[in-house]
Amino acid sequence: MPKAKSSSPTKIKAIGNDFEEFTATSNQKLYCQVCCCVVEHEKRIFVEQHVAIGNHHKVIEKRNILVWSYKVIFSEK
Ligand SMILES: [Zn+2]
Repeated sequence: MPKAKSSSPTKIKAIGNDFEEFTATSNQKLYCQVCCCVVEHEKRIFVEQHVAIGNHHKVIEKRNILVWSYKVIFSEK
C-alpha cells in the first residue's frame, strides 16, 4: 500500500465533505468547529474516532437537542 501524505488538501476536502463540522486551516490542518481544536487527519479513522467519542459527540448531541427545541418553538407560532 502506498504511504499517504499527512497534509493533503484533497484529503481534508474529502473529510470536509463527509463531516460538515470540519474545515481546513490555512496551514493544511483539519479544524473541528465543534471542539475548537485541530484534529489529526493522517488516517481517516482518526477523524471517525474523534467524531464518535468524547466531547465532540456530546456537543453534537446537545446541539441537536437545541435545534430540535427551536423547531418546536417556531412551529408552535
Ligand atoms: Zn470535534
